[in-house]
Amino acid sequence: MSKEKLTTTQGAPVDNDLSSITAGQHGPTLLQDIHLVDKLAHFDRERIPERVVHAKGAGAHGYFEVTHDLTKFTRAKFLSKVGKKTDVFARFSTVGGEKGSADSERDPRGFAVKFYTEEGIYDFVGNNTPVFFIRDAMKFPDFIHTQKRNPANNLKDPDMFWDFLSLTPESIHQVTVLFSDRGTPFGYRNINGYSGHTYMWYNKKREYFWIKIHFKTDQNIKTLTREEAAKLAGSDPDHSTRDLYYNIKDGNYPSWTVSVQIMSPEDAKKYRFDPFDITKVWPHGDYPLQPLGKMVLNRNPDNYFADTEQAAFSPGNFVPGIGPSPDKMLQGRLFSYHDTHRHRLGTNYHLLPINASKSPVHSNERDGAMRSDANGGGVYHYWPNSFGGPNPDPDLALPKVDIAGMAARHEYKLGDVDFVQAGELYCKVMTKTDREHLVANLVAHLKGAKKQLQLRQTALFYKADADYGKKVAEGLKLNLDKVKQLAAMSQAERVKATTLKS
Ligand code: NDP
Repeated sequence: MSKEKLTTTQGAPVDNDLSSITAGQHGPTLLQDIHLVDKLAHFDRERIPERVVHAKGAGAHGYFEVTHDLTKFTRAKFLSKVGKKTDVFARFSTVGGEKGSADSERDPRGFAVKFYTEEGIYDFVGNNTPVFFIRDAMKFPDFIHTQKRNPANNLKDPDMFWDFLSLTPESIHQVTVLFSDRGTPFGYRNINGYSGHTYMWYNKKREYFWIKIHFKTDQNIKTLTREEAAKLAGSDPDHSTRDLYYNIKDGNYPSWTVSVQIMSPEDAKKYRFDPFDITKVWPHGDYPLQPLGKMVLNRNPDNYFADTEQAAFSPGNFVPGIGPSPDKMLQGRLFSYHDTHRHRLGTNYHLLPINASKSPVHSNERDGAMRSDANGGGVYHYWPNSFGGPNPDPDLALPKVDIAGMAARHEYKLGDVDFVQAGELYCKVMTKTDREHLVANLVAHLKGAKKQLQLRQTALFYKADADYGKKVAEGLKLNLDKVKQLAAMSQAERVKATTLKS
């Protein structure tokens, strides 16, 4: 028997935790049983809103250590010295599935890392894929709707899925990664993490650079076949969570080697791809990976909800030396992440221990629900102020970036260039086995969609690479001449030629 006394949430000792107070043996329960009422009321509120994306996840604590000096590119203090260590908390997740969904589902994997630096929180909020399906935040809610469930029957819907993707051809690169076996990783220890977005780094002289960050797994990439993933979804739907937890518990700490690609602003102006388009990578041959550090995860949370569920990451959490780029997907995320956390956790979510800065916070933001710190005490909470309030530091201003143009809804024009990297991945990077699995995975999923959608999407694979399109067409038993004709059309003509009959 524990010596600790059970108490109410208010700290008062509890006499009995098994029987409600009732009027007589069988009588109705009395409202005066405050312990019962409190217990039920709190239970009723145990669930907080599920994350609309990345609902199912697993997390762990660890550290990041600088192994290489890149201080000429960034003034970030946590990167200022080789050997410097910073505490981190990492959370991995699937994207579309609900909180109880299987870890082995085909999906990108979220790869988020919170750095508790001496200059506040810096969050890396990436994925295990270096690219994304869309490149404008305007499309994000629609895209996610298509990956979730049919509004009428609450089932996953291959028609919604492939309709949106085939109407959004810039997704072809990410679709190719997703339907390779990298879309069903063995577990979270065996994935890479990519910033995807381009970010800004700047040094003390306010010279700036565009960068992309890569976390490469030291455990090697390990993937599941479609059949293995389906089997695991039934036999152990929490496999990735279990794999991460027990490896850390057993002292087998996973680690990642962190590198950066760096592009000068001058190069960015004339580069052959838009360097801010998240549907494209920067080829290693053009921008080699420059080593920066190592991340090690060595401690499981004591409590899943306290840390992993309440962890709130935002690509807008920067520290001096790191800033945003004009990437239109990133620009939307800069708003959306903080906003979703305010909805899910409340306006003071930054005070929760897992999210709180470990360096001093002197902000003038006050009040709000669940304010759990001293709320700034009696210090005047405005600026400018003559009473010794905290000062902004102009030396920390972001470098000036020259931006000019018309304020308008500027469309990205789809071009042949949008198919190049998907084609290169298929024909130059993938092995024969990778290609066979990719095609089989695509066929297994696409065959659930309407014929017109199969044709429209397969034409896009054909545009990326003729063999790729041909193999998918064969798998789906589509007329290859028809696929070729569709591939030769503009997107508008292709959509018209594959209009669904209602
Ligand atoms: P490289 O030959 O230099 O690099 C290819 C990279 O592809 C590898 O380093 C590896 O990245 C990744 N890769 C290997 N096998 C697979 C696979 N089966 N599925 C997905 N990715 C795989 O070529 P480039 O840099 O010129 O890029 C060519 C293509 O490689 C790109 O179009 C892109 O699709 C893909 N790629 C490129 C990345 C980049 O940042 N340049 C990153 C990842 C993929 P890693 O070691 O990071 O796993």
